[in-house]
Amino acid sequence: MATTRKPTGRRAAAKKPPPCPDCKNAGQVSEAFKVGSRTKHDSDDRQEALCLTCLGTGQAPTD
Ligand SMILES: [Zn+2]
Repeated sequence: MATTRKPTGRRAAAKKPPPCPDCKNAGQVSEAFKVGSRTKHDSDDRQEALCLTCLGTGQAPTD
């Protein structure tokens, strides 16, 4: 079997994707937990939520 050597896809130096500006690479954001439908009281508790900017990847969207 003749072996034709093809150069395997040259990889450009892997660029590090910039961290997500919203969650700072955490992939999650914490938002204030609203308690009560009438009082609109802001609790000190915060809940972790999936970062909608990067969808949890922690990296800034490239496009
Ligand atoms: Zn994010």
